[in-house]
Amino acid sequence: MNEAGPSPGAAGPVAGPGPDKPQQFWRGNLPCCTDDRSGCASHNPNRQPVFYDANLPAHAKSAGTGFFKAIKDTAAKAHSAISGGTSGAMMPQQHPAPEIWCSLPRVPETWELLPQVHPSVHYSLSFYHVHTVMSAVRNGQDPAPFLAALTCRGKSGTWPSITYAITPKVVASASSTNDATTTTPTHAFLIEHFYTFTMSLKHATGAAFYATARTPFLAEGYRNFAPCRHFVRLFRQVREERRKQQYFAAVDYSLKNVLGQEFRDVWRSDVGRQPTNMCCGMCFTDSSLEFEVVGDKVVVRFLSHRDLGEGVTPEDGKWVAGVKGKVQRSKEDFGRIRGAFSE
Ligand SMILES: [Zn+2]
Ligand SMILES: [Zn+2]
Repeated sequence: MNEAGPSPGAAGPVAGPGPDKPQQFWRGNLPCCTDDRSGCASHNPNRQPVFYDANLPAHAKSAGTGFFKAIKDTAAKAHSAISGGTSGAMMPQQHPAPEIWCSLPRVPETWELLPQVHPSVHYSLSFYHVHTVMSAVRNGQDPAPFLAALTCRGKSGTWPSITYAITPKVVASASSTNDATTTTPTHAFLIEHFYTFTMSLKHATGAAFYATARTPFLAEGYRNFAPCRHFVRLFRQVREERRKQQYFAAVDYSLKNVLGQEFRDVWRSDVGRQPTNMCCGMCFTDSSLEFEVVGDKVVVRFLSHRDLGEGVTPEDGKWVAGVKGKVQRSKEDFGRIRGAFSE
């Protein structure tokens, strides 16, 4: 009954971007696409039809969900509200999104997903994404089009409404082998997640509140941010306090790790000391957090910087540590990845 035209996914060998081997390339999804009308503000601002292979897994869970109670999918509601519009739905896309092609075998190892940093920011990176970029680098090609495919900008959800910028980067790296005789120059794939959002100091009614008042400042289930799958930053409360005729903001927050330990802290605007930078000792992730009072809101800036390895094979130790395992990361390495993004 369906003899007119090939079925999706059976298009046969496709000429991918690599000049190297006569391999079968297959087209992957952009990390910001979870269906054929999705994508970030950079890649699909008007929610037009885009390439999407539903047979590939998408929409990784947030690593933080394992630590806390199950998350209600209010992000899905926000998404359906956006895609409700019909005007221009059939218009062809004016700026086709960059494409991701992979020459690796189309097997689960290559499409395993890194956990999301926050449940409302839909960015699901697979090994095949990293491999595509790093293959271009190894083949002497310009990786810029593939880096553009993985560079996402947007605004998520409503409560919090996170403005995010996700930026990959390729850097030269020393070979990670202990064998000093084979000092082959290699490259590493790094990625930055920059999320910023506000927490209001006022009641929804607009009345200021002091000392004892509490408000659901972030939706239940959306208060934790996972730089990697080994720890989360959890926001417990934001409040305004008065001391010696002066008002200041206070944020109760904590760090919780996979061992079940929780370390609580309080940030006070009158003291100003920012949270300590964190570096995961179980994978290659650096993370930092910053608060600032702007008007009657506390602005939160959250950063995660990751080294996901050389992108040759999904058995790469750095990738495995990020997606499911853990390693013993040496303290000398702490801060290196954060530093690579401030150069
Ligand atoms: Zn995107
Ligand atoms: Zn980690």
